[in-house]
Amino acid sequence: MCPGCGSDLLVDKTCVWIETHGLDCGPYETGTDEWFECRNCGAKLAPSEVVWDECPEYEEEAIQER
Ligand SMILES: [Zn+2]
Repeated sequence: MCPGCGSDLLVDKTCVWIETHGLDCGPYETGTDEWFECRNCGAKLAPSEVVWDECPEYEEEAIQER
């Protein structure tokens, strides 16, 4: 959920970026940015900033250990 307003209405956003360094024919750098946007207050949150009520990865690990 959003640490600012407590809303669970988070939208998963991904942005692909290309850095041309001002060149017309490369080499280009490309990469992706991922973040979450809160629909309630409009905050942009890095994945590490989002407060999850439950952690699915942790649950999965716990099951495998049994
Ligand atoms: Zn919010």
